[in-house]
Amino acid sequence: MTVTAGTEAELAVIDGLIAEQEAALLARTPASARIMDEARAFLAGGVASSWQDAPPRAIWIDHGKGSKITDVDGTTYVDLHNGFGAMLVGHAHPAVVKAVQDRVALGTHFAQPTADLIPVSRELSRRFDQPKWRFANSGTEATLAAVNLMRVAKRRPKILKIEGSYHGHHDAVQVSVYPDLEDAGPPEAPNSVPVHPGVLAEVAANTLVVPYGDVAAVRHVLEANRGEVAGMIIEPMMMNIGVVPPPPGYLADLKEELQRHDVLLTYDEVKTALTVHPGGATGRFGVTPDIICLAKSMGGGLPCGAIGATAEVMAIVEDDSYEVVGTFNGNPLTMAAAKATLLQVLTAEAHAHIEHLRDRMAEGAEEVLARHGIEGYVSAYGAKGAVIFSADRINDYRDFLGYDGRYGHIHWLYQHNGGVFLPPWGKCEQWTLSVQHTDEDVDVFLANLETFAAALKGVSPAEGRRDGEALSRRT
Ligand code: PMP
Repeated sequence: MTVTAGTEAELAVIDGLIAEQEAALLARTPASARIMDEARAFLAGGVASSWQDAPPRAIWIDHGKGSKITDVDGTTYVDLHNGFGAMLVGHAHPAVVKAVQDRVALGTHFAQPTADLIPVSRELSRRFDQPKWRFANSGTEATLAAVNLMRVAKRRPKILKIEGSYHGHHDAVQVSVYPDLEDAGPPEAPNSVPVHPGVLAEVAANTLVVPYGDVAAVRHVLEANRGEVAGMIIEPMMMNIGVVPPPPGYLADLKEELQRHDVLLTYDEVKTALTVHPGGATGRFGVTPDIICLAKSMGGGLPCGAIGATAEVMAIVEDDSYEVVGTFNGNPLTMAAAKATLLQVLTAEAHAHIEHLRDRMAEGAEEVLARHGIEGYVSAYGAKGAVIFSADRINDYRDFLGYDGRYGHIHWLYQHNGGVFLPPWGKCEQWTLSVQHTDEDVDVFLANLETFAAALKGVSPAEGRRDGEALSRRT
């Protein structure tokens, strides 16, 4: 019997591998276990943010340098988690360390503007094609401001979002993030499903949900809600369900359709931005929205967020119709790190280095999959990427629902036990390379993928490399 992807037989193999690899991970991380027990006394669930506790256990980190991090048990990993993509500069980059050290001695917070705001906003304007900026402290704050800006600008209550996308944890976007199929409604006209009971039904009702990649669905919703929709928020390249690029022409057609209805377009580039192109998904696909949200990679590892917009939209901030406020907005330490990140670290050569690593990683991983006869593909753009263990392409949330989460988890475990820290929640997440990663780092990732592939197909890694055609399969 041949074992093929997604069959009961292959999933049974994976269940066995998960049990074995989880046991190995638990056995080599006793210090994380001990600290976690201590933490539970004062930290709810033992962590600072719920997603830090991924199965089989939260891994506590001691320090990071360059492309690597070291956990509290003393194990060093090639870091492809990179703090959910914030560490595009890599850990403790000398230019960022110097900028922060210089600034910290001069005072870290005044709630008054400081000089670095100007070069940072000027550089964001240059890269992302938006004339005016404000700052925030997280992606959530940036998308919250964007939703409010759209509603205030148009004086209309409703917004559109994509089914299966995550835009932070404020109510307007905590709708249909990972809805169950029973609640989700028809694929071409999905229900608005609140993420938790704290998102009131009347709030969710003002967030209309459409499938990714489908302009006709947007047109239907706009026609059915004529004069009520202020704007649409979208990740131009979906990152909450692996890495899903926009279909050709989608973003341009979407913008045109929204403009026809006088509806604003916001890109949530919290994850994409500098990681996918020097000018973000905006630059990569050449379609500029009315509003853009940034966070994560723009801040060199400090808490950050930014909102850029057209002069017309920002006029309502300038005349105080909507106040973008926050005690720590434009914090000097963050701005010092952002300035070093944007002007010193993320040079053209640095972006080119990342593209080189991307090619090596994507081509290497696809070769391993093909040689072992594993159904799947690599979706990788700039520093971001994921191995998707599915014969069919994942194009939207409904496709994603049909993809068994055990593949992403077992791949994560093999990488982790092999010294590569991918982001946990393997089905949903993607790797992030940094400017400090090397060819050798990529090779460790590929070697681990090889080990996993061989285990899945029941061959030794050496055997798999010698003769791809003559692989003995589990029967
Ligand atoms: N938007 C997107 C696309 C994100 O991926 C995230 C976080 N993963 C956010 C917004 C929220 O950012 P933060 O966690 O900084 O609030």
